Amino acid sequence: MHNTKPHAAMLASPGMGHVIPVIELGKRLAGSHGFNVTIFVLEADAASAQSHFLNSPGNDENLVDIISLPSPDISGLVDPSAFIGLKILTMMREAVPSVRIKIAEMQHKPTALIVDLLSVNALPLGREFNMLTFIFIASNARLLALLMYFPTLEQDVTDEHIVKKKPLAVPGCEPLRFEDTFDIFLDPSSQLYQECVPLGLLYPTVDGIIVNTWDDMEPKTLKSLKDPNLLGRIARAPIYPVGPMYRPVDPSKTNNPVLDWLNKQLDESVIYISFGSGGSLSAKQLTELAWGLELSQQRFVWVVRPPVDGVASSAYITVNSGEVGDGTPDYLPEEFVSRTLKRGLVMSSWAPQAEILAHPAMGGFLTHCGWNSILESVTSGVPMIAWPLFADQMANATLLNEELGIAIRSKILPSEGVISRVEIESLVRRIMVDEEGCEMRKKVKKLMKTAEKSQSSDGGSAHQSLSRVTEECLRRLKHVRGMSH
Ligand code: UDP
Repeated sequence: MHNTKPHAAMLASPGMGHVIPVIELGKRLAGSHGFNVTIFVLEADAASAQSHFLNSPGNDENLVDIISLPSPDISGLVDPSAFIGLKILTMMREAVPSVRIKIAEMQHKPTALIVDLLSVNALPLGREFNMLTFIFIASNARLLALLMYFPTLEQDVTDEHIVKKKPLAVPGCEPLRFEDTFDIFLDPSSQLYQECVPLGLLYPTVDGIIVNTWDDMEPKTLKSLKDPNLLGRIARAPIYPVGPMYRPVDPSKTNNPVLDWLNKQLDESVIYISFGSGGSLSAKQLTELAWGLELSQQRFVWVVRPPVDGVASSAYITVNSGEVGDGTPDYLPEEFVSRTLKRGLVMSSWAPQAEILAHPAMGGFLTHCGWNSILESVTSGVPMIAWPLFADQMANATLLNEELGIAIRSKILPSEGVISRVEIESLVRRIMVDEEGCEMRKKVKKLMKTAEKSQSSDGGSAHQSLSRVTEECLRRLKHVRGMSH
């Protein structure tokens, strides 16, 4: 008997930051759109992927299959000091033969292949097995626009932007300031540029691009991507906005001392500070931040990591450090913990961030502007202080600050200088106490409502996007079945 359900084979590149969004998308396709879903992950992520899937709320574990692939050896292919994105891209390229074997063995062949941003080298499998192909961007439309636009640029346009540092006019989008450019686009002679930028040429060849955003969050860029006279001319493939995809949380059902502490605080009275899973500050900046927080006299939860001078993305590497006397980590000002005990919590390990942000006591978020952190803040109605460090974070900060008006930001770029304690004190008070912060809180709450609406199964744009993907897949399924008769 023929299977009447469409089957999506999904490919997630390594690291839970990549795997989790793919699983979330898989869950939606399986749970609300009648798909069978198979998710390929590298073996190092398989156990966490299983446990994430089985433990997250509202799951029926039978809906999604997780298949583990052997982790390819890339030593000799990439310089050990290369940018992590390049290593992942290479690993996923080397993993394609094992995906091919697994798909060839499948009885119920996939109708669609959905690859994430760093797995695009697997796209030729689509043609080989007669599958529709989709790229899933777990980040935003701005990044998608740049990835597609960059390979088509004339040399002199890139020169103007990269050498003369003039803003890049992306059709229909806000011009991209040089300071906001994603690092991969800055050095055309680097291996990273040469491998990543041409991949943008694959985008117009797929059957659809699924992106973790929604109209109210990125109106201009999404409009341009859909407009055949603007970026749509390059995109060609239909764009399916499915955002915001995030893990639903309930802080009142989460057992954690931070949440117990937050339960004792007034509504909207606490600022949360975190630089994501890997961001770090210099020693000098960390000291200024500590003093700025203290001077602001606001309540806070601070996820603090040891300082690393020079490399903003290096907290992935563990640095040993000690504590002194009152529990103050030795890289913070002496007795910081005792002095701020009544007002603040310092955490030096992983924090339940989504639950913290969803807590009613949250009044502000000082963030490095990773896309997931932004979505968690917006869907909790919390205004931000944007403190971008690297990669797409500068462009994200500009979106929050200048286009949406839901974040404030220092005039000093964190990559270019130290933000002083006096300015940090002022930023914190502006978002937590001043009228400016109240206005932003109202704005972000409005945006939160649009996020809820987009996810509604009753005509929400995210739901509609996935319904359209489903229709395409059902059409293909019918066609393939017709051919086999
Ligand atoms: N996160 C967390 N606890 C931490 C640090 C990070 O739960 O102590 C989560 C955070 O909620 C978000 C993700 O890790 O979902 C970070 O993703 P994002 O895109 O914001 O930044 P990245 O870490 O990729 O730079």
